[in-house]
Amino acid sequence: MRTSFVAGNWKMNTNKAAAVALAKAVAQGAPKRIQVGVAPPSVYLDAVGQAMAGSSVLLGAQDVCQENNGAFTGACSCEMMTDLGVKFILTGHSERRHVFGESPEVVAKKAAKVLSCGFTLIHCVGEKLEERDAGKTLAVVEAQLNELDRQKASDAGPDRVVIAYEPVWAIGTGRTATDEQAQEVHAFIRQSLAKRWNKDFADRVRIQYGGSMKPENAKGLLAKPDVDGGLIGGAALKAESFLAICNAAE
Ligand code: PEP
Repeated sequence: MRTSFVAGNWKMNTNKAAAVALAKAVAQGAPKRIQVGVAPPSVYLDAVGQAMAGSSVLLGAQDVCQENNGAFTGACSCEMMTDLGVKFILTGHSERRHVFGESPEVVAKKAAKVLSCGFTLIHCVGEKLEERDAGKTLAVVEAQLNELDRQKASDAGPDRVVIAYEPVWAIGTGRTATDEQAQEVHAFIRQSLAKRWNKDFADRVRIQYGGSMKPENAKGLLAKPDVDGGLIGGAALKAESFLAICNAAE
């Protein structure tokens, strides 16, 4: 039995006061029987962590540097994230890949670092529209799963490995994958994980759906057998809509 995990990715939104207010509302309203997390902008991690102190909501980071320390202007290390109470870190988000130009090699190094530093990893995978239209969805997702280090994921265990399937054409566009399109890819991801590790490992990994998930479409997506939660962008910026999705997952 997998515990659903719904995480909000606030991206480069809010200001300090809004981030703290949102965090407090989420901490107060989050259902207890699923895992709920929020990933605010890194400059507000400290304030958001304090605002949620004592709650069950996990603090997450949207990105991290693959290096330990040194001359990496603008970057934050895993050690810094530990200092701030971060519990999960995203890697491979489509905006990191396609807006910031992170290569598969860099994404792989980041994912390995996140796992070896003891965090829960949310590794994002997903195809662009032209890749879906060309019938390449599963091949693209498979290649992005190859970014996971076999040994490091084994050592971390299935509870610390989370995959977010986020079709790029559905992120921030208002266009959602149908429940069936999501389930098809989620089932493929689980099979692929079973081949890399084993069935027991794959059965315990949470696979989130991300891409314009909102209260109106969450129930159908979350009812699919291999959809174990969501990674939520736009709808995570309002406590009401984010909590409605969390409640649907519960
Ligand atoms: C995301 O950025 O991870 C995301 C899923 O965004 P949105 O919900 O806005 O599509």
